[in-house]
Amino acid sequence: MTSKMASCIFCKIIKGDIPCFKLFESDKTLAFLDINPLSRGHALVIPKFHGEKLTDIPDEDLTELLPVAKKLALATGAAEYNILQNNGAGAHQVVEHVHFHMIPKPNAQEGLGISWPQQ
Ligand code: C5P
Repeated sequence: MTSKMASCIFCKIIKGDIPCFKLFESDKTLAFLDINPLSRGHALVIPKFHGEKLTDIPDEDLTELLPVAKKLALATGAAEYNILQNNGAGAHQVVEHVHFHMIPKPNAQEGLGISWPQQ
């Protein structure tokens, strides 16, 4: 493990050292609710492989990310949503571990398979 991984907040979430509201998990991918959501159901989809930017991640660790974001967008029932991914501080990246935001507009709907918490 590198020192960047040891201090990475998303690596700590992957390890279970920091709790999250988990939406999806596989051997390569984790999705959870953003702690500071822009709307109810705002989710983050991340590779378990630690890398700061999209270009740091091997292709095989990227393959599930958009399909999972798509599934979550469908699960919110929202007709409109943003899928965003920032690379570098100048591009508004705060957490230095690759993540896709899935932001339903306006809010995730109830009763579609996931009990979306009030946020
Ligand atoms: O793309 P950017 O790096 O700006 O976004 C990071 C996101 O990670 C923020 O939306 C923030 O609320 C979220 N976050 C989180 N849980 C943490 C730390 C940050 O959901 N423990």
